[in-house]
Amino acid sequence: MTPPHELRLSGALDLAPAPERTPVHIPPRLGHFIDGAFVDGSDTFDTINPATGDVLAKVCAAGAEEVDAAVRAADRAFREVWGPMDGAARGKVLYRIARRMQERSRELAVLESMDNGKPIRESRDVDVPLAANHFFYYAGWADKLSYAVPGRTVRPLGVAAQVIPWNFPLLMMAWKLAPALAMGNTVVIKPAETTPLTARLLCEVFQEVGLPPGVVNVVNGAGATGGHLVGHPIPRKVAFTGSTGVGKRILASTAGSGKKVTLELGGKGANIVFADAALDQAVEGTINGIFFNQGHVCCAGSRLLLEESVAADFLGRLQRRMSTLRVGDPLDKNTDVGAINSERQLKVIQHYVDVGRNEGATVWQGSATALPKRGLFHLPTLLLDVDSTCTVAREEIFGPVLSVLTFRTPDEAIKKANDTEYGLSCGVWTEKTSKLFEVSHALNCGVVWANGYNLFDPASPFGGVRHSGFGREGGLAGLAPYLEVT
Ligand code: NAP
Ligand code: MG
Repeated sequence: MTPPHELRLSGALDLAPAPERTPVHIPPRLGHFIDGAFVDGSDTFDTINPATGDVLAKVCAAGAEEVDAAVRAADRAFREVWGPMDGAARGKVLYRIARRMQERSRELAVLESMDNGKPIRESRDVDVPLAANHFFYYAGWADKLSYAVPGRTVRPLGVAAQVIPWNFPLLMMAWKLAPALAMGNTVVIKPAETTPLTARLLCEVFQEVGLPPGVVNVVNGAGATGGHLVGHPIPRKVAFTGSTGVGKRILASTAGSGKKVTLELGGKGANIVFADAALDQAVEGTINGIFFNQGHVCCAGSRLLLEESVAADFLGRLQRRMSTLRVGDPLDKNTDVGAINSERQLKVIQHYVDVGRNEGATVWQGSATALPKRGLFHLPTLLLDVDSTCTVAREEIFGPVLSVLTFRTPDEAIKKANDTEYGLSCGVWTEKTSKLFEVSHALNCGVVWANGYNLFDPASPFGGVRHSGFGREGGLAGLAPYLEVT
């Protein structure tokens, strides 16, 4: 008789398709979500799958009138329903949103990977669970707001106008919505032009769990739609995540309006590796810091600062590890590096690699797979022999490109890490705790990871200083931008 394990083995190659491969319904045309209903619009543009070039859907671009309708719906919902609602009741709705997101997590992950290009492993294991956890976390605050600022009374502001980028479409939406809603505000939000799909699915979730109409409104479109939204006179709060250039424009245009503004902008994070670090762990952290999400990460560790005495050893280990990375189909769960979100961004990345080469950097690229023949992809890239004056050490590339610098003392490491206009994030790798604390405190940025990189938790505030913006998202600090204290 054949033993059971041999029976299983005989059919081992005939595996069921991975759940990630099962198609997700995408409506052929995406309008807006206003006052609890999906409404069509006129002008359309395409959202594409960057891994294939296929058009996923036609998307309507909201003009001033549609933005106005969305803001007025939010204002009504704030005054009549959501603002006056008891905090515990609001909390229940937020818990329902979080749970329904978990139930629909496969669809959310697949859509995110198709629209953005990120590997399914990341959208499934990072973006979607973190987004749901954000709703869980702030649901917990909704009935405890009287403890948020002890001894003072807190009130919601009213309508919040929110604009988000394409690198973490669902997660950025959750970061923006959850604290605003928990506090009793209502929202009009504009997703990025190239990644509107998960926002649409989240609106279905809102309908399913009975979020009152008008509490969240979504307007699709490009920069002009965002301009109408942040310039509308009703919102009392503007929250923006995106590039430093657009952030500056928004700050200038809202000056004197009385609106509360928070900006989460770009970065040029340094990952500092000391000779006494656990080097293999630091290699993994470095990989995670820059190749995670194709380097489309505001807080990416895009500069690697290596202590000179271990630089050669560390680079050897890093290059070996990079040679095992699989670049390719975002829906394949073995993929490490997916597609670049847009042709425009791919050109930016290629431009910076050329600039680095022309300024004297040595370009090294490696992966376990060749670049796919179709779609928008870029090999994991090292720029070696870079110094702090090089453009690629100063400007944000926003792609899988790591500029490598060296240092000899902790002071030099701190000086080089701080030698940037940005101030979002850094990583410090050393087994010596006193050095960890000393260096971390001297770094001029909002977030420092100790012997780790790109680690997130809804209870932990995130945000930058200087040209990386101001305001915090996450934790108790993340409630502050959405409340009035008296
Ligand atoms: P972006 O061009 O500034 O776009 C961000 C969002 O703003 C998009 O929805 C965009 O619409 C919209 N927008 C463009 N012009 C506008 C205007 N004049 N008024 C109002 N809204 C406008 O940034 P991106 O290139 O998409 O995103 C990448 C940048 O975001 C990087 O610099 C990155 O560092 C930063 N980022 C920062 C964080 C953070 O937390 N600090 C997180 C993620 C990303 P369109 O999509 O149609 O252009
Ligand atoms: Mg797309």
